[in-house]
Amino acid sequence: MKIFVYIQEEQSKINTISLEAIQGAQKIAEKSNGSVSAITFNQETANSLTQYNLSEILYIEDPKLENYNPLYYLSAMEQISKQESPDMIIFGHTYEARDWVPRLSARLDIPFISDCIAFEINNDITFVRSIYQGKFNANYTINNKQSIISFQSGAFKIDTIQSGTASVRNISIDLSTTYDSITPGEKFQESAQSVDLSQANVIVSVGRGIGKEENLPTAKDLAAAIGGELASSRPIVDAGWLEPYHQVGSSGQTVAPTLYLALGISGAIQHVVGMKGAKNIVVINKDPNAPLFEIADYGVVGDIFEIIPKLTELLQNT
Ligand code: FAD
Repeated sequence: MKIFVYIQEEQSKINTISLEAIQGAQKIAEKSNGSVSAITFNQETANSLTQYNLSEILYIEDPKLENYNPLYYLSAMEQISKQESPDMIIFGHTYEARDWVPRLSARLDIPFISDCIAFEINNDITFVRSIYQGKFNANYTINNKQSIISFQSGAFKIDTIQSGTASVRNISIDLSTTYDSITPGEKFQESAQSVDLSQANVIVSVGRGIGKEENLPTAKDLAAAIGGELASSRPIVDAGWLEPYHQVGSSGQTVAPTLYLALGISGAIQHVVGMKGAKNIVVINKDPNAPLFEIADYGVVGDIFEIIPKLTELLQNT
């Protein structure tokens, strides 16, 4: 199987999800006796990819590809796909990928299975997607010669990417006739984060179980007593109760503290991918079947409003 992985970069810095996608592709190649090549529109990125176990790196040089533009990217990838005929093109499931890869799928008439969290190979290759907000997993089997896949953040680990030596091949494409009706504006810049959760040693994280904004001080007091940072699942940020930089998960921060204390968080995959690297995970949830218990080192089935004040008091008195 001939697998291509598109590498997204920002100012020559490779997006972590693209590196995870390489690792996923290497695993698929291993089990299917396939080969993995990377595609990039950036020279420095092409050079830095030579350290990995890849068949080759396809570098497409064109000034129109220097900054993100969905129509130029689409046209470039369409031409590469037609020239090289890969069996599978893999992307990291980034916001950019969400924007232009569905168009690529339509343009090439190749099925796109997006936001996958795993794969299985028996006779066929099956991709696993998390559906209904992480409550179920669905399996999708490809019965087309070619496919497009995107992997969710955290689906694979970059520390197990196989290294090697790969060479760069320059590819020519023609964007002169590509109709450009989109002029991207300035890229959205996150406001300076006041909390870098990725560096925190202890995190107290609240979920929808906290009930209402007025209850947040209970969790803040616990965080202060234990010397940790306050974090949350996405509904808390969506409700506007905490700033976005508190959010842990696939569309928030990825954290790896020594202690992650999860209060009233169910354990949707989008949350789990952001915190499963924590060394010790303590879960308090009144639902014994909450999925987060599956990865907990310590679990307490109970009401956070009974437990948190007592825990805070205990910590304050020690
Ligand atoms: P719920 O799933 O509603 O769980 C609340 C939990 O609280 C339940 O398990 C309940 O039993 C428990 N509970 C209630 N009351 C109490 C009590 N008194 N005491 C103890 N336990 C109690 N989510 C993220 O977190 N981060 C992300 O980055 C993220 N990105 C996403 C990206 C996309 C594209 C999508 C589609 C979703 C994303 N989500 C993300 C949302 C995610 O799918 C879940 O909806 C979310 O994580 C659920 O948050 P929760 O666990 O706080 O809420």
